Amino acid sequence: MNKAVVVFSGGQDSTTCLLWAMEEFDEVETVTFLYGQRHKSEVDCATKIANDLGVKQKIIQMDVLNQLTSNALTRSDMQIEAEEGSVPNTFVEGRNHIFLSFAAIYAKSIGAKAIITGVSETDFSGYPDCRDAFIRSLNTTLNLAMDYTFDLITPLMWKDKAEVWKLADQMGRLEYVRDNTLTCYNGVIADGCLECPACKLRNDGLAKYLQGQHAS
Ligand code: ZN
Repeated sequence: MNKAVVVFSGGQDSTTCLLWAMEEFDEVETVTFLYGQRHKSEVDCATKIANDLGVKQKIIQMDVLNQLTSNALTRSDMQIEAEEGSVPNTFVEGRNHIFLSFAAIYAKSIGAKAIITGVSETDFSGYPDCRDAFIRSLNTTLNLAMDYTFDLITPLMWKDKAEVWKLADQMGRLEYVRDNTLTCYNGVIADGCLECPACKLRNDGLAKYLQGQHAS
């Protein structure tokens, strides 16, 4: 049995990864991490999508992250700021490292080797644990830590946002992803608030993809 675990937030990237995984693997489960997201709607959104697609969702409580660090994703009293050339204050230090390690423990417990995450180095915001070198290094570490052959898979690593939309479209799910996912830092589903950095990245990518469609 070909089994995969998808790290799943309910956003555009992880939803596209989930749809991709469902085409590639016989059995797919999701893990969603709770860590004081600014908007509970983010988790509700992930749960709704998991239910829509008929996949199991394991919710893992990671509130401990908030005791160690503060940032604009977990604190509602902080403004999101992303200055040109610096790491935005939505960055949670070590988040992907920790999440992937917990996902791996769960994956092994259910006999899955593939762990899929939507990280990307292309729209790189300066998050060091989104980089390919880190993912490959962690894959080796996890194999050694648990004496198991994990396969960390990053379908979006070299895609920009327009190419992520293209992948959804190729699977016939562009409209589903557009209407049901939440990427917006202000907690607005689908096309979002149109103002925050996450919405700008998402909507600029969609416009670029759709323009390319009309041009060809
Ligand atoms: Zn927004």
